[in-house]
Amino acid sequence: MLGLMMDTPLLISSLMIHAEKNFPEQEIVSVAADNPDHRYTFQDAFKRTRQLANALQSLGIQQGDRVGTLAWNDYRHFELYYAISCSGAICHTVNPRLFPEQLIYIINHAEDRVIFCDPMFVPLLENIHDQLESIEHVIVLTSENHMPASSLPNLLCYETLIAGESNEYEWPEFDEKTASAMCYTSGTTGNPKGVLYDHRSTILHAYAAALPDVFGISASDCILPIVPMFHVNAWGTIYAGPLCGSKIILPGSKMGDGETLQRLIESEQVTVSQGVPTVWLALLAYLEESGKQIPSLKRVITGGAACPAVIAQEMQEKHDVYVHVAWGMTEMSPLGTFNQFKPGMEDLEGDELLEAQLKAGRGVYGVEMKITDDDNNELPWDGVAFGSLKVRGPWVLSDYFKAEPGTTLEEDGWFETGDVATIDERGFMAITDRTKDVIKSGGEWISSIDLENTAINHPKVAEAAVIGVNHPKWTERPLLLVQAKEGEELSKDEILQWYEGKVAKWWIPDDVVFVDSLPHTATGKIQKFELRKIYKDYQLPDIDA
Ligand code: AMP
Repeated sequence: MLGLMMDTPLLISSLMIHAEKNFPEQEIVSVAADNPDHRYTFQDAFKRTRQLANALQSLGIQQGDRVGTLAWNDYRHFELYYAISCSGAICHTVNPRLFPEQLIYIINHAEDRVIFCDPMFVPLLENIHDQLESIEHVIVLTSENHMPASSLPNLLCYETLIAGESNEYEWPEFDEKTASAMCYTSGTTGNPKGVLYDHRSTILHAYAAALPDVFGISASDCILPIVPMFHVNAWGTIYAGPLCGSKIILPGSKMGDGETLQRLIESEQVTVSQGVPTVWLALLAYLEESGKQIPSLKRVITGGAACPAVIAQEMQEKHDVYVHVAWGMTEMSPLGTFNQFKPGMEDLEGDELLEAQLKAGRGVYGVEMKITDDDNNELPWDGVAFGSLKVRGPWVLSDYFKAEPGTTLEEDGWFETGDVATIDERGFMAITDRTKDVIKSGGEWISSIDLENTAINHPKVAEAAVIGVNHPKWTERPLLLVQAKEGEELSKDEILQWYEGKVAKWWIPDDVVFVDSLPHTATGKIQKFELRKIYKDYQLPDIDA
């Protein structure tokens, strides 16, 4: 027997309607390219969103069409998120840090019909425009008097485009499984792959993100997502904010700028913020050098890469800010796990406390996870066994865009994340490595992430990477690549001694190479595959040892 409840579709427009009715005066504050202190209310934002929806219609955009964006986090990008998806089209956020060949590939693969871009990305589009096959218009996210001179044909101005449009627009109702947004994973090898989110997955993900033991945000919070809106929907904050009625601060292109972040936190009284570890390192460095404070900030959420202990320690000890680790990926919208302690963990202290705090956390409701060995046998949740991490749930992808259907998931319907992890008795998952990065030494696995984190905690180390290089006896042994902090002298013995007592003796890298910089992907991750190529034939010392 079916239940007798209403079948109201879970559409992103419902977030907008809810926020406009319940929190019309709540603010969105942006650092925009043409106005470093732009502020308006949800009511203003959604009026302009309706003007934009009318403008999209005037441009001939129809349901299912892909509309590209090349933009930082600000109010116009916020309007695009809602106007495009809620009118039935697909908001394709393009990562401007990608290499030109990747940009050409994904814009053509997605068949974007128009593209909205920040003024600073116009030159980037000029360079590749003749290779873009489907773009009919480029719309610059600014007003007429800030329009850049450009050789691009069909260049339009955002403010002029929406100015003449009505702010009345009836949001259409459609199937909640309708695609709403897309984001390409900047994979480390091969062509990027498109992940296609839908309205239902987005709403369910926003609900989960808002939960007290996850982002834990409310109408009394002021949130500062320092996660680019072009990378996995800024971790869902752009949807969870209006769902909860939180004030939203959008830092524009200034995400890595500690000074701007401190200014925004202080002036807007930010309470919760999300970002990758490098953002927190930049903020902490600025606070240290300026002596400034961030008293309103209560919690930060760090994810996207392992969190070095120094971030959790300094945030807590010097600024009274609690650091939560989260884990997820583009294919998961992105939220998978969140580190919020459970009852029974209050008495943890010292190293045990820190170790528990730095784990990726427990599964958020909606995401099931398991770890398996090479034969797909499920491994125990004992905090020791580590294996391939697999997930499933309503905001995990089922196939990549335009991929052969049914080729992405395993036969039993689970998605293999490509991460290697342990899960402890409390259900707390810890990432041990990427499947491809784990070092296989004498039949045992060594976690490159653990070795990197230990190196990065050395006061003289700016960045570190560990890769496996061939060894005749052990198959592979770890090689440490280190970039020392500017002006610091660091010796091989000094860094190798640092490992003693911190990791198993046989994990300690066999050799150290000092580098001026390490190669990064477009999303800021170290390109280990490049390093593996460069050091393919590296000769380790004492090979007979
Ligand atoms: P992306 O799809 O670009 O967001 O990358 C997702 C990948 O980032 C995951 O599969 C992990 O390898 C890594 N990642 C995300 N969060 C964490 C975390 N908290 N700790 C370690 N690695 C992480």
